[in-house]
Amino acid sequence: MHFDSLALSDNILKAIKEQGYQTPSPIQAKAIPAVLAGKDVMAAAQTGTGKTAGFTLPILENLLKGLPAKVNQARVLILTPTRELAAQVEASVTTYGKYLSLTSAVVFGGVKINPQMIKLRKGVDILVATPGRLLDLYNQNAIRFEQLEVLVLDEADRMLDMGFIHDIKRIIAKLPKKRQNLMFSATFSDQIRTLAKGIVNQPVEISVSPPNTTTKSVTQWIHPVDKKKKPELLLHLITENRWKQVLVFSKTKHGANKLTRYLSEFGLNAAAIHGNKSQGARTKALAEFKQGTVKILVATDIAARGLDIDQLPHVVNFDLPQVAEDYVHRIGRTGRAGKTGQAISLVSADESKLLKDIERLTQQILERKLVDGFEPTHDLSQSDTVLKPLKPKKPKKPKQPNKFGQGNHGNDSQKKPEKRRKPKNTRNQSRQNTAKSFKGKR
Ligand code: ADP
Ligand code: MG
Repeated sequence: MHFDSLALSDNILKAIKEQGYQTPSPIQAKAIPAVLAGKDVMAAAQTGTGKTAGFTLPILENLLKGLPAKVNQARVLILTPTRELAAQVEASVTTYGKYLSLTSAVVFGGVKINPQMIKLRKGVDILVATPGRLLDLYNQNAIRFEQLEVLVLDEADRMLDMGFIHDIKRIIAKLPKKRQNLMFSATFSDQIRTLAKGIVNQPVEISVSPPNTTTKSVTQWIHPVDKKKKPELLLHLITENRWKQVLVFSKTKHGANKLTRYLSEFGLNAAAIHGNKSQGARTKALAEFKQGTVKILVATDIAARGLDIDQLPHVVNFDLPQVAEDYVHRIGRTGRAGKTGQAISLVSADESKLLKDIERLTQQILERKLVDGFEPTHDLSQSDTVLKPLKPKKPKKPKQPNKFGQGNHGNDSQKKPEKRRKPKNTRNQSRQNTAKSFKGKR
């Protein structure tokens, strides 16, 4: 299939060509016609599969019909869980829409609200926003929705994880009843489906890759190690293997800072990215990492979410994620664009339970490799019983890794695990749900 066959205007096709896109990705091939037809859409596909263009391109096309946005109005509202992602999505809107005369704006918290109010005054065709700041702007009469035609929830699963459910409901209550609704996420969990019930209307459901499976092109293993030796082991791995660029996941903001300081003391160019950092600092760290001046980016899960980071060769789980699904998201940062990647987890004895959760979710036992000089004194319990077959596996289709693509993901953590405004039991439940959907329910 070719983009030309998708009923998009020449000015859009021209912009796509300039980006070097040749063929629509599978999710785009399915989503674009549905969105063009004005249908509600619920789509799940792994990070890096091109979801942004999947909704942006047809939205731009549809906006060409109809009246431009009036004072303080927005015709399309795209909600994203994090500031970084909002900025990225708006950048895509600008890129794909560069030959059109549509207007767009991005608003998020952590920066002054006044310039945003000024930007919205004339009205914008497409507004990309994080939920909290959008509500602030609404309450100050800076944005109205009488002209709203389309609502997009990008990374809907992340929004739920981050506790945005109430904000989302509040926002939806302010929108015109008649509108087109698009929901995009990495996986279809039961919670996503529940959320969707109140939002989308007879949606076209699109799912292009099985949820919760890890990409084949990623080699994964763990290094059992004592907790207090982890920083030293990481340093050893980086220097010994001469890694040029590595994304390191830390459970807490505090831990991310500490590790960054530790690595910097040894002359490595490391930066931390998490919710306590100012927007400027986060943007700068990400830009420097992309450009290669920063070699090690230490991130909390929420901060890393949605970030479109190119073809990372190595991802290190300095701490295992508290929620097994995050493992899949984390290692999705590597092995992209048909390249192979390595996802390495440093696992201490107190994390055996988390390790088992991950192995159960991904249905694989991760290979354990001891590193000379770092053999743990506290043994990791063996996890050979975790693979209770849930269901005879479907014969595997030869799955192509993402055709292109990069990483994604975005926001915050705290001293304790990740700060997600989500009660514990819901979290457990989500784990169960995923296990269920892994049974092939999806
Ligand atoms: P997702 O939202 O699914 O995580 P993105 O929309 O961020 O994915 O896209 C990931 C990357 O793939 C981006 O760098 C984007 O420019 C690129 N991309 C998107 N669509 C195509 C395409 N059809 N061909 C080539 N590259 C694409
Ligand atoms: Mg995305």
